[in-house]
This record gives sequence, structure tokens and C-alpha cells, in this order.
Amino acid sequence: MDPAEILAQLVAIPSVNPMGREVTGPEYFEARLTEFLQQFFHSLGVPHETIEVLPGRGNVLARYESPGAQTTLLLDAHQDTVPVDGMTIPPFEPQVRDGRLYGRGACDVKGGLAAHLWAFARLVRERPQGAAHVVISCTCDEESTAQGVLDLTRLWTDSRRRSELITTAPELALVAEPTGLNIIVAHKGAVRWKIRTRGRACHSSRPGEGNNAIYRMAELLQSLERYADELPRMVAGHPLCGGPTLSVGRIAGGLSVNTVPDECTIEVDRRVVPGEDPSTVIPHVETYLRERLDVDFEMLPPWLDGATLSDHNNGDWATRLMTHIEAVAGPRERQGAWYGTNASRIATTGVPAIVFGPGSIDQAHTVDEWIDLAELRQAAEIVYQFCAHP
Ligand SMILES: [Zn+2]
Repeated sequence: MDPAEILAQLVAIPSVNPMGREVTGPEYFEARLTEFLQQFFHSLGVPHETIEVLPGRGNVLARYESPGAQTTLLLDAHQDTVPVDGMTIPPFEPQVRDGRLYGRGACDVKGGLAAHLWAFARLVRERPQGAAHVVISCTCDEESTAQGVLDLTRLWTDSRRRSELITTAPELALVAEPTGLNIIVAHKGAVRWKIRTRGRACHSSRPGEGNNAIYRMAELLQSLERYADELPRMVAGHPLCGGPTLSVGRIAGGLSVNTVPDECTIEVDRRVVPGEDPSTVIPHVETYLRERLDVDFEMLPPWLDGATLSDHNNGDWATRLMTHIEAVAGPRERQGAWYGTNASRIATTGVPAIVFGPGSIDQAHTVDEWIDLAELRQAAEIVYQFCAHP
């Protein structure tokens, strides 16, 4: 069995996350891939379980029990891919050319998933002395709202939830994303929320009788832009991830040109630095604005909570994994990332988490997505060695 064969099978099974698009065809959602994974674990003869997270969409878990092991490693990879709009290659007909496999998800993250599956199957077959217990989780909905990994963490944080496959928090989570065999030990998170100003509507021919919510927002925006400029001096950055940022991405308000608008809202994206408490982000902005503005506004509840991956508790694990990486593939780096991963959601529960996988993030979500098969095989070997000698 070759990891490339597993990958080709995974790519041939569409598992597109619609990410807000209308669901128009059979390529959407993870159900068929979930079925394949169930069959994969069934044929290995290991305990496995599918836990429904959203209607018809679930996480697949399987467990390798290692005699005498004290450590449990969680190997997580997401099942879903981004949509296929504009792709210049057949998305679901994997093609191998010049040592690369092309297709949607080849890089993000069916390559990483194939490496996990291959390593897991080899553990089951060879049962190496001294290996860890290994729980493999194939999560749904990573590309959109991360409901899969949030549900997964409840298995060790919520006493009302139980799975025989993972009864306590794992010692480490290894999360697959295309890192080029480097280890991501830290990444930023994002808090996103709306700010609303209100006014009083009236006919635009007599604007003095109303109160224009768009003008109020314009004042607020000037202060917010200054806040964004000052932010790097107010909040310390992270050595691997850089400083915090704030950006306003959308604005909406007004009904018609002949009506003084009674409401205006903006959408704010604040990138949170590892080690920063995301719950302080919105109050900090609010205090700054209230001290400087004579404008009434409301902060609406965030729809993204700003979970980051911090390197405060995963360093020893990164060192151990790096030993195996160097033995198989040569020197690599510990890095910070600008993109988010499932690792932040797991780390929020106190479990050390690191991100590792084959492929480059530059090829993720692209119109001709591919992965280097030599690197895929190296990743599979590294994951196996890490689980066998944790
Ligand atoms: Zn991914």
C-alpha cells in the first residue's frame, strides 16, 4: 500500500464544503468520504465511530490501542475541501504527472489525511513496541465554521458527551495542514464582529429633522482607523506570528437616497496574537472609541471567537516530532502561520497541539491544486515513526 494510492481514492470522492454557496450538486458535503473512511477502519478491524455533528455530516474516529502505552496521540485531519469554482484541472479525477498528484483537496488536506491513514494502518499491522495509543479524527466542516473540531473537543470537555474511543484529553494533537513538513507551533486567530450606529430616519429633503447614522459611522471609522494604526504599539506581537491587526471589511446602511438613514453597520476583523486573551479584544476597542467619540454605537456579539494557537505548551512535542522529520526528510523549521487551523480549537481546551503535513499552503485552494508525492510519502513515514516512538 502506497500513501499515493490512498490519496487518489480520497480525491476521487468529492467532499466540498459549500461555504455559503447554494448546494447544487452531488459534490457537496462529506457524507461519501465519511462512508469510505468507515469502510477503511472497518477493514482494519479497529474500533471506529461516526459522530453526527450537523445533519448528514459527521466526524469519523478510530482508535489504535497500544499495549502498555501511557500516551494518547490524536491525529486530526479535516474531510472537507473548498469549492471547485474556476478550477483548470478535473477536480475529482486524480491525475499523476511529474511526481505530483493533481485534484481538489490533494494538498488541503487529503494529502495530510492520507498520511495519517497510512501511518495508522501500518501501526495496526505492525503493532510496534512502545507506540502510543492513537486516536485518528477525520473532522467535518473545517473550511467554514469548524463545527467538526468543536464537537470533537466536547468529548473530553463536556461530561454529558462520551465516546469509548477517547475518554480523556489526549496528550497531544497533531493536526494535518500543508506545512511543507515544517511544524507550525503558533498561529493567529480572528475575532469578527459588527459595530452599529443608529440615527433617526426622515425624508432627505429635511435632513435637519433626522439624525444620519452614516455620518455617525463616518466619525467612528476615523477613530477606528487611528486605533488600527496604534494597535501594534498598544498590544505586543508574537515572535513567530507578528503583531495584531484590525481591518474594517464591510459597511452597510441606508434604505434609499431620499431617506436619512437610521442605521449603519460595519464588519470588523481583528487578528489576535497567540497569548492574547481574545475576550479582551472588543472591550479594548470599545473603551478607546468611547473615550474619544461623542457618538452612540453598539458592539454586536462576535461570530468568530479569536482562538489562537500558542507555543507555550507544545515545544517538547515539536522537538520530538522534529527528530523524526529530520531523520526522514532533513532539516525543517518551527514556524508561525498567518492562517487558522483546527489546532487552535483543540489548544483552547489545554491540549498541546502542533500542525504538520505534506504540501505547501501556496497550493491550497488553488485552481490546479497538487501535492508532491515524494513529500506525501515522507510525511506518512514521519507520522508513523512519531506514533511508534513518541
Ligand atoms: Zn486545511
